[in-house]
Parts: sequence; C-alpha cells; structure tokens
Amino acid sequence: MKTSIATVSVSGNLREKLAAISAAGFDGVEIFEQDFIADDRSPREVGQMIKDHGLEITLFQPFRDFEGLPSPFREKTFDRARHKFDLMQELGTDLILFCSTVHPDSLGGIDRAAEDFARLGEIAAAQGIRVGYEALAWGKHVNDHRDAWEIVRRADHPNVGLIVDSFHTLGRGIDPNSIRRIPGDKIFFVQLADAPKIDMDLLFWSRHFRNMPGEGDLDVTGFMASVIATGYTGPISLEIFNDQFRGSAPKQVAQQGYRSLINLMDDVRRQEPEAAIDLPDMPERIDVQGVAFVEFASRGDEARHLEHTLKTLGFVKVGQHRTKALGLWQQGDIRILINEQEGDLAASMFNAHGTSVCDIGLAVGSATDTAKRARALGGDPFSQTLSPGQLDIPAIRGLGGGVMHFLDDSQALGDVWTVEFDHLASPDHSVGLKKVDHIAQTVSYDEMLNWSLFYTSLFAMKKAPTIDVTDPDGLVRSQALQATSDGLRITLNGAETHRTFAGSFLAESFGAPVQHIAFTCDDIFEAAQALVRKGFEPLEMHANYYADLNARFDLPAATLKKMQTLNILYDEEAGRAFYHLYSRPKEGALFFEILQRDQSYNGYGAPNAPYRIAAQKRLMRAKGMPRK
Ligand code: MG
Ligand code: MG
Repeated sequence: MKTSIATVSVSGNLREKLAAISAAGFDGVEIFEQDFIADDRSPREVGQMIKDHGLEITLFQPFRDFEGLPSPFREKTFDRARHKFDLMQELGTDLILFCSTVHPDSLGGIDRAAEDFARLGEIAAAQGIRVGYEALAWGKHVNDHRDAWEIVRRADHPNVGLIVDSFHTLGRGIDPNSIRRIPGDKIFFVQLADAPKIDMDLLFWSRHFRNMPGEGDLDVTGFMASVIATGYTGPISLEIFNDQFRGSAPKQVAQQGYRSLINLMDDVRRQEPEAAIDLPDMPERIDVQGVAFVEFASRGDEARHLEHTLKTLGFVKVGQHRTKALGLWQQGDIRILINEQEGDLAASMFNAHGTSVCDIGLAVGSATDTAKRARALGGDPFSQTLSPGQLDIPAIRGLGGGVMHFLDDSQALGDVWTVEFDHLASPDHSVGLKKVDHIAQTVSYDEMLNWSLFYTSLFAMKKAPTIDVTDPDGLVRSQALQATSDGLRITLNGAETHRTFAGSFLAESFGAPVQHIAFTCDDIFEAAQALVRKGFEPLEMHANYYADLNARFDLPAATLKKMQTLNILYDEEAGRAFYHLYSRPKEGALFFEILQRDQSYNGYGAPNAPYRIAAQKRLMRAKGMPRK
C-alpha cells in the first residue's frame, strides 16, 4: 500500500513540507502546483529534491476548467494541457488531476466532455501522461463521481481515468457504495479527507474545514472500503485543506496524517476482510482497563508542596523506589508518583514545565500489543536506561513531551510496585477516594484534533461532541473521550487565548498538558468532611452559585446547605446526579477534583465550568498564581 499526502496539507515551504512528509513515513506526495510555482528551483531540480527525500510524486494537481468549453477557449485549453504535460515530464511524474469545470462559459453535456477527454487522452498518451478526472462537489455541471465516471467511461481511453475524493462524495451525501460499480483499474487515484458536519457553503467548508480521516464526521472508512472493493491498488492519499493545520508545525501535521491513514486502512481491512490490503499486521484498538499511575516530575520545595497537597487529599506515601528519587503515594486504586530523579526524563520535564505530569501508566490487556499498535501508527517508542532492579515496561512518547507506560498482568509486570519499591506504610482509606475518574489535558486549540486522534486511533475510545466552555476571558473548547470499558476518560481542553484559565496554564507550564486529575468516591459528603479534617483547602464557591442551583434543581434545602458548606458543585442529566468539588490550583496551576457520579451520568459537570473557572481566577487575581 502506497501512502501519500498532498503538499497543500502541510505548512512550510516546499523543502520543509517534503522533509516532514518523508520523516513521517509517507511513500509519496501530490504536488500542488502552487507549492511548485512558489519554489525557485527548476522542475528537474524539484523532481530531484523529491527523490532525494525518498519520495515519489504520486500526482500533479490541479488542472482546472478544462471540459465542455466553446471555441476559442476550447483550443486554448488543449494548449494549456500540453504545456503542463511538458512540465510533468521534467518533474518526473505521469499522473495529473483534472477537476470538473466551474468555468462560467462551459457548456455542459456528458458527450461533449467525454469527447474532450478522448482527445486529451491522445495528447497525454503521446507524452506518456495519464489524466484523472475528479468531480468537485461544487462543479458547474459535474459534481458527482457517478457523472464523472460516465464521462470517463464514454471517453473510453486507456490514459483517462477517474479520481475519487471522499470529501466531494461524502460532503454531498452521495452513497459511497456506488463506487463499487466502477472497475478498479479505471480509478487512477484516491484522495481522502474527513470533515466535521457543519451546514455551510460546500466550497468554503472544503477549503477551511477538511481534516484527517477519523477526525471528522464523514464515513471515510465506508468510502475507502468501497474503493478497495473495486480492486483498486494505487496510492492512498490525503488532501486536506485546513486553517489550523496550515498554522501548525509541518512535522506534527505530517505525523498526524500518517497516523490517520494507517488507522483508517486498518479499519478498512477489518471491515472488508476479503480485500487485499498490503499493510503490516497490527493489533486492533486497545481497551484501557484503568489508570495504573500518574507520575509527576517535581523537585525541592515544589515536591514538598505537592506532597502536602496529596496528604490533605488523604494519600499516604506507601513506597520509595529502591534506586531512584521516586516516591509512591496511594489511596484506593490510585497511585501517584513524585519523581525527583536527576538525569531522568522527569528532570527534563521539570526543567521545561515545572511541576507537571510527566508519565501516565495505563492498565491494558497486553502491554506488548499496545506498544505494537502505537508503533504501527508512527508513535515513538520510549526507553531510558534502566537502573538495577527496574522493570522494562513498554512505553511510548505521548504528546507534549510526556510518556505513557502500559502495564498488564503478565508475570514480569504484575508486581512492579513490590519489585521496585520499598514498602513504607499502608494506605489510609478514611477519605474514600477510589480511582482516577478523568484526566484533563489542556492543549492549544490548534492541537486538539491531533490529540484526540492520538487517543482514538490507539485506544478503543469514543468521542463525545465538542462543547464550548465559557471562561470570563474567552472560549475554551472541550472534547471528552471515554474508553469502551470506562477504564480511561480524558477531557481535552483547547485554549485559543492565553487570557483564559486554561490558556494561562498552557503559557505558564510551557505546554505541560495535564491540568487536573479527578478522583471518584462513593459518598462525596463524607469525603468532603474527611478532607476538611485532613486540612484540605477546597475551591470556594459563592452563594450566588447555590441560589442558582436551588432555582434549577429540585434539591432538598438541607442538602443544598451542606453542599454550600462543603463547596460541592452539582449537575444532573435526566435525573442522574453528579457531585464534584475542586482543590485550589497549586503548583503550576494544577488542581485536583473529587467527584461522585451516578453510573449513567456521562458528563463532567460542564455547566459548572464557568463558575469554577471564575472562582479559580478570583484566587489567581487575589493572590497571584503560585510561580515556579
Ligand atoms: Mg480532491
Ligand atoms: Mg473535570
């Protein structure tokens, strides 16, 4: 299977684009003519530069407004084509994309267009060029791949074929199964893009909102399964126009693209088992069973502050690593590590971000399979020198510089806590925190799609619809992801401005992604009282908030009063209750949340977020945020 991406999908100049595309693992590139024209090298030199990057040109595009023109435009358009064919020979590629015309003078007529393509096929054949015809969703006369195919069929020339593009087909709601009726050898090329479902002008939607397969709402898997069913064996190429990607680092977008393509083809292979897809074998998406540990990088006074916070949350230091400056804190099934080891990854994370989460350990069915799928998707394996007695636990680099370890029940890994740590004390269960409910990560808005694809391609997780959270100083987009068996919940918050609480966290921590960790308990009133006894300082909620709760929900006065005393927030969904409270933001604006959820309440108390953020900001303004 040959993987490819259009140069227009990635930011930077042509050389930067090629370097990023090659490094991400692609086999080829579609050369977007504008990228070529903007470069100062000759066509031959550009062709050589592409080869030097280990890439081949899979397609040259676009040629616009060709078919169905009256004289004298018609003659001119053939001359224009001859000129482009010469250029392609210099570049070293033989396939060009012709998109359906939007020319105001074009006449339409399937046979007229077929005649034009038959004649073009002759010119192309003489120069060893193949022509692919694509129906633009907003084409003047042809906006449906079924009509484009009819034109190609009637042109009946070996050098003329069809190009299908998932956006143009799915964006117009055309059934992709109709592609199954087209012979595979007449499909010259396949372009893929996803998009969020937004009701807007097709052209504007296409130019600004396309995204990688798996990041939007279109059935790109069904589309690709139809293409593969025809026997198509050519390149599979991404053509993404997206404002966010244009502003992101080329390397990141190329990696994201590669991940999405491999992930998609793996899905297609599972959906269409008869099809021959030449893709290395990989385990299917991994179901996360739970959060095994959360590790903080910290040092000195900050580490002592964090330990104090953990104590007030009812955690006990139960272990000390035998060879590293690494303390283990526990309560219920929650394990928190504080890593102060010099020369470790944690040390570089601390230097870059201050006290921050540097590692997340996930409990999975098979750690080896998880690492294998992560690598197949282009993920970087992570390893560091093991100290004596330390177990070699499979790990990858997560996004934002952190690490993710995978733990399973295999003999070697089952006992990491007893093998590597000296036992200091037993956990105290008086507060009653049980497990990690969710981990909230804050990223810049531009990186949200990348992060959510990271999780949904590697793990069996479903996405909730994106919601907007109102910060007094701007909007924060929030996307929740939940593992199939509920072993992992992640909320991704995309900050667009540094004036928001999430944005200032991002700025102050230089991109350290975990902003808060939420723990579950069975009885939040008991937990909150136990916390007070431990000296825990809750985030204070004001009377106006409780007056509003009183108006919105049917809560007994005594309960409401207790909630106010204990600073407990409340939400419900179809009668299912959700109670939560927050710590005050501490080291690097990090904070903790304690919650009690009815089993079928699936949210995160989003309606309370504006009031929680306002309370956090009041604290920030009154006292200034704790600095590193
Ligand atoms: Mg296209
Ligand atoms: Mg939360």
